[in-house]
Amino acid sequence: MTQTLAATLPVRGWTRRDPGLHGCVCCSPALQTLGLLSLPHLAAAGRADGWKRLGAPPAATVGTVILANARILTVDEAFSTAEALAFRDGRILAVGSLEAVREAAGEEAEVLDAGGRTVLPGFIEPHMHFFAIAMFGTIPDVGAVVCEDADAVIARLGEMAAAAPESKWIVARQFDPSLQAGADRITRHTLDQIAPRNPVFLFNASLHIAYCNSRALEIAGVTAATQDPPGASYVRDASGAPNGVLQGQAAMFSVLGHNLAAMATDDIPEACRRVCEKANRVGVTTVCDQAAGGFQGRGELAAFHAFAASGHMTARLRYSLIQAGERSWDAMGVKPGEGDAMARAVGWKVVSDGSNQGRTGLQREPYLGGGQGMAYVTPETLREITVKRSLEGWQMVIHANGDLAIDRALDAIEAALEAGALKDSRFRIEHCSVLHDEQIARMARLGVTPSFLIGHVHYWGKAFRDEIFGPEKADLLGRAASCGAAGLRWTMHSDEPVTEMGPLRMIDNAVNRSLWKEPGGVLNPAERVTVRQAIIALTRDAAWQCRSEQEIGTLEVGKLADFVILDRDPLEVPPEELGGIGVLETWVGGRRVYAA
Ligand SMILES: [Zn+2]
Ligand SMILES: [Zn+2]
Repeated sequence: MTQTLAATLPVRGWTRRDPGLHGCVCCSPALQTLGLLSLPHLAAAGRADGWKRLGAPPAATVGTVILANARILTVDEAFSTAEALAFRDGRILAVGSLEAVREAAGEEAEVLDAGGRTVLPGFIEPHMHFFAIAMFGTIPDVGAVVCEDADAVIARLGEMAAAAPESKWIVARQFDPSLQAGADRITRHTLDQIAPRNPVFLFNASLHIAYCNSRALEIAGVTAATQDPPGASYVRDASGAPNGVLQGQAAMFSVLGHNLAAMATDDIPEACRRVCEKANRVGVTTVCDQAAGGFQGRGELAAFHAFAASGHMTARLRYSLIQAGERSWDAMGVKPGEGDAMARAVGWKVVSDGSNQGRTGLQREPYLGGGQGMAYVTPETLREITVKRSLEGWQMVIHANGDLAIDRALDAIEAALEAGALKDSRFRIEHCSVLHDEQIARMARLGVTPSFLIGHVHYWGKAFRDEIFGPEKADLLGRAASCGAAGLRWTMHSDEPVTEMGPLRMIDNAVNRSLWKEPGGVLNPAERVTVRQAIIALTRDAAWQCRSEQEIGTLEVGKLADFVILDRDPLEVPPEELGGIGVLETWVGGRRVYAA
């Protein structure tokens, strides 16, 4: 059963090997497998009545509302400020002085006092994975933010086992050897000591490796005599017995398959509602899912739109269709721009290489210690897809981490432009991690817009500098300032579940470039940006990048009333306090969806 569940969607022209030990979370078969298990529930979520269980949606705001006594950063072209803003029927009616806004809003308008606080356009998270968060979010996180090192992970799993009924599976996720030292300590022997009776299963953050204990291997019937499944392996100790480390999907699911049914998400509407709630809490009013259909193909799109129609969706959704589902998309005839202001198809996503911290990002030169990463798609196929889909009007969204992967993405984009794609196609390169000067110049020429996983700088910066790339190449990570200077519009993203959504933390990361694992350390200060530039990246430019600048991204008349109220003004606080600014309220379409 597990073999068929683990089968991935058929992919034309793809390099056929398993993405390997450290593939990208974006396209993880582990997530697809969980998605397949949730299929019946997701099918229900694709119908309007599937959302009734959430009850009546929160009521819309009635009449005209004036937000007064505020310091409003409109983030318009002039980055102008205002003291009041009025909205009606979810859209902004007036912005400016209180007097002018009152006049436009009329006598009847209700006035809300913002208490002198700072108001910004709602933040836009341009790259996250909606269903991955919905379905994976309930599995406990033992990653670097929670546990210092491998021993702390083992101890945490022990606490979970001690608190669980006998024989209950202990499942956790997010162990990251590039940030948590002592990966070789996590074997069945150490896990047996802390959990002798409960089966234990720990996902590596990449989702392409897992670790389990003897009880889990016993349930799965995996012994020294068991052959490795094709394309995967049970890592073995000197005696030839499996040591509990499972590499590749087939090995992982031969074990976890015995618990998968219990892990399926049976309440999709509630899980989706929680994702929006999570976004709203950190001030996000629009998210862009960058692998739509990765779980369920068309069922996922139906669920998105039914969710939007239910009135319970409290963060707008933009999404890119995952290339792996191309047959479904063609059969359905999905068109770019299909949907409405709540949920809309905007992009076409291709994952072209792995991840740099997993040493699978495709590089021009070898990593420290060797290896140049891997291409998930041949240059020819990437070019073919990019030309075809951009001529159809899709915005191409290409995941490329290594510098060689970026070269190939640019070749494909150049071919699309030569074939007649619009210059305003807003070709996106995702993560766009390692950038040389000449690549930035080429991107400017081709009209390419990068989105940086800015956590690469903060969380993994030290590992990149000391262990993965060396200092010279590590300086080429997340080059926001240089891209801005070259006239490129850039954004940044969390890629949640890779890092968590958190626009203020991302602003902090881009402005300070501080190193999480090295107090006082900074990665290439020349690439620091101003607070203003970082705000623009997560509002006005993210709206443009997600093809939604006509309705969101700034607080201007006619746009949707999506805004946040912060406890301090990011332009006024010392840079090291940016990440600690609190979100007091989040409003979407003139409706308050979060209050601290
Ligand atoms: Zn990616
Ligand atoms: Zn991603």
